[in-house]
Amino acid sequence: MTASLPSQATTNLVSDRIYVTQPYLPPLNEFLPYLEEIWSSKVLTNAGPFHQQFERALCEYLGVPHLSLFANGTLALVTALQALRITGEVITTPYSFVATAHSLLWNGIKPVFVDVDPNTLNLDPARIEAAITPQTTAIMPVHCYGRPCNVDAIQKIADNYNLKVIYDAAHAFGVQTENGSVLSNGDLSVLSFHATKVFNTFEGGAIICPDAKTKQRIDHLKNFGFVDEVTVVAPGINGKMSEINAAFGMLQLKHIDHALARRADFDAQYRERLAGVRGIRCLPKGSEKVANHAYFAIQVEDDFPIDRDALYDHFKQHDIYARRYFYPLISEFPMYRGLPSANKENLPVATQASRRILCLPMFADLTAAQVDRICDVIAGIK
Ligand SMILES: *Cc1c(COP(=O)(O)O)cnc(C)c1O
Repeated sequence: MTASLPSQATTNLVSDRIYVTQPYLPPLNEFLPYLEEIWSSKVLTNAGPFHQQFERALCEYLGVPHLSLFANGTLALVTALQALRITGEVITTPYSFVATAHSLLWNGIKPVFVDVDPNTLNLDPARIEAAITPQTTAIMPVHCYGRPCNVDAIQKIADNYNLKVIYDAAHAFGVQTENGSVLSNGDLSVLSFHATKVFNTFEGGAIICPDAKTKQRIDHLKNFGFVDEVTVVAPGINGKMSEINAAFGMLQLKHIDHALARRADFDAQYRERLAGVRGIRCLPKGSEKVANHAYFAIQVEDDFPIDRDALYDHFKQHDIYARRYFYPLISEFPMYRGLPSANKENLPVATQASRRILCLPMFADLTAAQVDRICDVIAGIK
């Protein structure tokens, strides 16, 4: 019987630290039966039973017709571009995670950055047309923080210029608009199930597609291009999700509604607590009917006593690890900054947002007391 005090004290110290996100994990004992099934079937990958089950269950949960699972979201983005045979130039946003544009470079495609809308921080449809050239073949927008792009305006431009639309929907799991799932827009949408996302399978991703034929091509492309034992139709990649990840996804689906409800509560609490703080602007809600509260972003305005970076550092001194999503802009990284469209003058809104926005901790296992502590730190700055 060792005294529990010292280890208790250590635990408390560690648990005082709040990161921007914490992966959602169900109780371990709930996962054991899934593992036993895999151990007894000895099917570890290659579209096994959990993979098939999870594809069907996700289609049903998300309200989409077809979906192909991937080992991660980046491989799904790379493959989505190949499935539609995209070449030349693709119009995209600089205000995103770097994988959005990397997927273009991996396909030998030139990214063309277009500025974002100041309210949604999504690709500004009014600026897309001016960036179209004879080489443009597609648009790759991002539903930033899970708030829907102006999908109607984007589709109209795509139709006028005969362009494909591939949405990087890595933030948009479960988001619904008036017309159903936000994932049903464009030609393809891509999800990420990375540990830091709203819904995780440790690592994972998916392509949502409108018809069975496209799904079949994607299924071939993620399996080296194999159609059958002796036929290879394309230089496909190994993008397959394993049975362990798919089984874990099946378990996560049982918990996702609870996790989303918790996030909604913290979103409301942040908005209420920060409403009266001068110089802090919570991003307004988007056009969605059902939100997923994937991130909680605030904008640090000029009339706040300190700037965004000083607030970020101040938080660290209080053991709160907020994140500057998205700073630097994708267009500022060395492999992109030489592009004509990467010029700061071309991207004033994104540049400004990148200097002012801070994402506060947001995850299902946060507590109301922790949200209060975070808001107290902000309100305490004079
Ligand atoms: C997380 C993320 C990705 C990459 O997904 P992975 O599953 O980590 O490969 C791509 N785009 C955006 C916007 C993301 O946030």
